[in-house]
Formats: sequence, C-alpha cells, structure tokens
Amino acid sequence: MKHVPWRMCVACRRRRPKGELLRILLTESGFQLDPSGKLPGRGAYVCPDNPECWTEKRLRRFAGGRAKALSEALSAFLGGKDGQNTHLPAG
Ligand SMILES: [Zn+2]
Repeated sequence: MKHVPWRMCVACRRRRPKGELLRILLTESGFQLDPSGKLPGRGAYVCPDNPECWTEKRLRRFAGGRAKALSEALSAFLGGKDGQNTHLPAG
C-alpha cells in the first residue's frame, strides 16, 4: 500500500489526503497560494472544494489580520470553477 500523507485544513480542521487540499505557502510577507504543492517553505492547507473554508471568518484563527487578503486570494483562485459570477466579461 502506498503511503499518502494527510494534512489538516486550517479552516475546518478536517483531515484529508494531501492531494485533495490546496497548499498555502507561508512567506515573510504573508501568504502565497501553491497549487503545485512543491514550493519550498512552511505550508498550510485548505479545502479547495469548500467555499466555507475560504471565508475570512474561517481563516482568521489561522491567518489573523491577513485572513481577508487570504480569503480574497482563495476566492479569486478557486471561485471561478463553479461560481459563475466571478470572471464574467463585462458586456
Ligand atoms: Zn476545510
């Protein structure tokens, strides 16, 4: 059996196989989304398929004052998949 690393979502605290989660790289200046999961550095994880986990409220415990910026980055990055109102061309 292949060993699959499990990680915890920082928003809902659910444990899932690493591949099901979106990695967030912690940097000196804040956060950077790391869809490849391969950037060096300390990472955190969030559910990419649950908009509840991208909300500022849910992220605050983890991100503190940067929760809003992180929430916006996650929504912009992930929201386009099924949220039809994010990337509509004007007109
Ligand atoms: Zn989650």
